Amino acid sequence: MSESQKIMEKTEQVVLHTYNRFPVVFDHGQGVHLYDVDGKEYLDFGAGIAVFALGYGNQAYNQALKEQIDKIIHTSNLFYHKPLLEAAQKVVAHTGLSKVFFTNSGTEAIEGAIKAARKYAYLRDGHADHEIIAMEHSFHGRTVGALSVTGNAHYQEPFKPLMGGVRFAKFNDLDSVRACVTDRTCAIILETVQGEGGIHPADPAFLKGLRTLCDEKDILLILDEIQCGMGRTGYWFACDAYGVRPDIMTCAKALGCGVPVGAFVLGEKAAEHSLEPGDHGTTYGGNPLACAAVSKVFDLFEKLDIVGHVRETAPYLEKRLDEVAARHDFIVDRRGMGFMQGLELSPDHPVGEVVRRALDLGLVVMSAGGNVIRFVPPLIITKQDIDCMVKILEKAL
Ligand SMILES: *Cc1c(COP(=O)(O)O)cnc(C)c1O
Repeated sequence: MSESQKIMEKTEQVVLHTYNRFPVVFDHGQGVHLYDVDGKEYLDFGAGIAVFALGYGNQAYNQALKEQIDKIIHTSNLFYHKPLLEAAQKVVAHTGLSKVFFTNSGTEAIEGAIKAARKYAYLRDGHADHEIIAMEHSFHGRTVGALSVTGNAHYQEPFKPLMGGVRFAKFNDLDSVRACVTDRTCAIILETVQGEGGIHPADPAFLKGLRTLCDEKDILLILDEIQCGMGRTGYWFACDAYGVRPDIMTCAKALGCGVPVGAFVLGEKAAEHSLEPGDHGTTYGGNPLACAAVSKVFDLFEKLDIVGHVRETAPYLEKRLDEVAARHDFIVDRRGMGFMQGLELSPDHPVGEVVRRALDLGLVVMSAGGNVIRFVPPLIITKQDIDCMVKILEKAL
């Protein structure tokens, strides 16, 4: 038995089987390439699910973490520390919002956003029991609150009853959202670009319409930028492309580039009139190590002009993917923004098979709902990397 087979078999004996993992054991990464324990090289167009934006082995990033580890990793939130200040200032500055709360994951950022919205309405109306409008085919995470606003029956069914007071509207259909509004609505939550659901960007009129609707009715607009934020669309946050500012934004994935960290960020109105001491907390959230990572990620994004690079290079990725789509009649659509792209295949060509073949051929791509090949590479990929990717993808198709 090879070493990797041993590792896979022994892992399955002790790790709960909640993932059907691909039969690859990764060992290390460099730039946009991953290497398995047998030394095989893979071109990475998945970035650990849209996380590792800076690519692997960035020395400035690694060095910053090593230095923080040698100073202090954890203090609890009962005390101040400098990395927290620096990370928070950068998040606030780049989101254009007012106050941040750091979490350990995306789903926890959603939980915090839900609690902040409910508290806002509680203070507004003097009573609890408010409703949230979420979107069909959305994904917001796996904890019970986040799962309750995730529009996927398959994910929800075994775990009912979930959090009450959630109504589902159709994404990109303003009338269907309007039909869900009641005098108890406290928030509308959506991904600016739906990720797991199959790479669907919001229509500009839809997002602007939601902003107006929320302003009219004093409802909080929560934009989940966990996957589409942090430069991925060629803007710091996808909502920047629309000129729409949410009342609450959630962020994670590329925020720490691999160190587990998320955040919910509140605009002034939500920040001033929602969570107070005693309302919310976390032992780890925003600890010195996580904050050092966030802080360095923002610095490196600036220094390397990651956002500019995505905006400059993404049209080339779109062009090459459009060419691929034109060559195969079973590819029915190409859509996305920046380095968050999807190719939708017809139902008779299961996307899982393509993803497996690509992996065999040394290319990591991911699937998304609705039979979509998802491309969420590290944000440092070059035109050359895109050419390599297309070559392997063609073989896999
Ligand atoms: C990944 C993701 C989440 C959940 O983040 P976790 O860190 O896995 O909990 C929530 N919303 C969106 C849009 C995501 O892509």
